[in-house]
Amino acid sequence: LTKIKFYNTASRQLEDFKPITKGKVGLYSCGPTVYDEAHIGNLRAYICNDILYRFLKAIGYDVRWVMNITDIDDKMIKRAKEEKTTIGQVAQKYEKKFLDDLRSINIGIDETKIVRATDHFKEMKELTDKLVQKGYAYKADDGIYFSVAKFKDYGKFAGIEIDTAKSRERVKNDTYDKSSPQDFALWKNDSDFADGRPGWHIECSAMSTEYLGQPFDIHTGGVDLIFPHHQNEIAQSEAATGKKLANYWLHNEHLLVDGAKMSKSLRNFYTLRDVLKKKYSATALRFELLQAHYRSKLDFGWEAMTGAETVVRDLRRFWAKSALVKKSKTLSLEDSYQTFVVALADDLNMPTALAVVFGVVNNTDNEGPVGRDFLRRVDEILGLDITNDTPPGVQALLEAMDLARSDKNFIESDRLRLKIEKLGYQVENSPVGSYAIAETQNSKVR
Ligand SMILES: [Zn+2]
Repeated sequence: LTKIKFYNTASRQLEDFKPITKGKVGLYSCGPTVYDEAHIGNLRAYICNDILYRFLKAIGYDVRWVMNITDIDDKMIKRAKEEKTTIGQVAQKYEKKFLDDLRSINIGIDETKIVRATDHFKEMKELTDKLVQKGYAYKADDGIYFSVAKFKDYGKFAGIEIDTAKSRERVKNDTYDKSSPQDFALWKNDSDFADGRPGWHIECSAMSTEYLGQPFDIHTGGVDLIFPHHQNEIAQSEAATGKKLANYWLHNEHLLVDGAKMSKSLRNFYTLRDVLKKKYSATALRFELLQAHYRSKLDFGWEAMTGAETVVRDLRRFWAKSALVKKSKTLSLEDSYQTFVVALADDLNMPTALAVVFGVVNNTDNEGPVGRDFLRRVDEILGLDITNDTPPGVQALLEAMDLARSDKNFIESDRLRLKIEKLGYQVENSPVGSYAIAETQNSKVR
């Protein structure tokens, strides 16, 4: 297996990746709270996770990928009240939208284990009770809280200093239920639920270890989750068992709009539907969101989307044109493929990996079976859906068109070209024959 290095947030450095069980990887990604539509900044995180998942699989790991859906928390309750409906209906509506979005941008959701918070109250309550028994949590009027002062390493993961002296002072003087400002709810009393309901952080602690064990290999999320969410997950899980929660923590950077973080609160966000309405394809969006290094901030703009659309078309052109070339001039692209893999093994260095791909498709000597084999292999990881062959019906029209042209029957060849274009293909001619490229805008549009 290829030697991999990841930047581990826990140590703030690049580390050699060693799975707990040889050849296997347990991967947990914090999923969405389904109270609203995801914006494309959120989608960037899931694309980063998907690239990691596909990469590990492509190089031979047996990967178990688990992603949670937060279908109960304060935001869900607020939204249900706003929409004058039930929490369950809010969850159903936005979870469906979320999963549709993931499928549109070609995230291997069917292979992923999607787990829902409302299906795991029992495990969450058990973990909460254990923390009470061990003295890390205490009961208050409105629920059960985790006492951050009791967990020795609290703040270490996030690089945040906790002023315990100040916290203790609060215990004495504060009339509120929380004994320090950093204490957080594990369990909330809520008259709508017979036995109360979980706090947000305990959901991920319970579900990740339920499916992956403790410790497990890789935990991912956006950088905004480092504190308090991931710090709190670590505090809960490690206090309860004395074992590490996860060995590697990978965090992706934000998507920016005009230099500011894309977010619901700033109202500067776009959804996948906004992108499709502007006639850009979901595939081009996937390319745009995956082409930067996951630890770099990425500026989103429509000009960049036009560029992404062109790249996807260029890759499809290489694929379609290569089908007409019987034998590639290049004998092998194995070295190029290995260079591509080595770049990704270096903390998923996508810009370097993509430079290899562009180098290959920009050289006409690579057209033909050797080039197609290379593209098929890299697209297993990129997931750009660029290796679709022209459907037989369209292929037959292309051949009829070329025949009409060689007979100098240009009226007929123009009629056939128009017919192919109406089917959503762009027709191009080359010395080896005509080929059709699927119009990216029409691909995967829902
Ligand atoms: Zn989480």
